[in-house]
Amino acid sequence: MSPLLPYRLARTRNRTSRATLEGDTVVIRLAGGMPAAQEHRHIEILLKRMAKVQARNQKKILIDPFRVILSGETILDVPVLDTAKRRFLVAWGNSLSGRLRGGIWFVKKPTDISEKTFHRFLWRLISISERGAMEQKVREINRSIFGFDISKTGLRFMKVRWGSCSPKGIINLNTALLFLPEEILDYIIFHELSHLKHPNHSPYFWNEVAVAMPDFRERMKQLKKYRLPQF
Ligand SMILES: [Zn+2]
Repeated sequence: MSPLLPYRLARTRNRTSRATLEGDTVVIRLAGGMPAAQEHRHIEILLKRMAKVQARNQKKILIDPFRVILSGETILDVPVLDTAKRRFLVAWGNSLSGRLRGGIWFVKKPTDISEKTFHRFLWRLISISERGAMEQKVREINRSIFGFDISKTGLRFMKVRWGSCSPKGIINLNTALLFLPEEILDYIIFHELSHLKHPNHSPYFWNEVAVAMPDFRERMKQLKKYRLPQF
């Protein structure tokens, strides 16, 4: 039996309750109109469920490329696409800033910044500098396999999804994919591109993916071994 986690409670007018994890804390958005006695029991059930989810999560590999910088290191080479590396140099400064010069991110960090804000900022910087390379990769795969119309590829850190695709041909990829094995990244790109033809997860959609990438199920399984940082 996993121990129960600390939680934060918000009462809503929703019909159903929702529980999510923020780090080690369970955030419960409780359905409205519940008698107090039932509420207590309900919270307990949700906490038990989330303890199981978290135990499962902890067995996964955390994608956390900036940990050494967050722990106080001032220089870091982050591996990015195609065996390239992106260097970060961190110095104290009056305000938070990042400047890309000669392929290196020069980061200024104020003393009073929270880890959360700084972490978010680092993910934003790497998203900016690697977007072009990612867009090119998506275009190459599209050209050689699918031949759809894509308008643009966005790259940003997302807490809960690996990618998305809009009917207007905009593909959004999670920056965290930069740090996964290439066969997994390719699977996500194939997946999102296939949505340009089938904007759903119908059998037609999965058939589109399977024709282009026969071993996609194996890659999906590999993807499940990783988890995203929560901040
Ligand atoms: Zn999908």
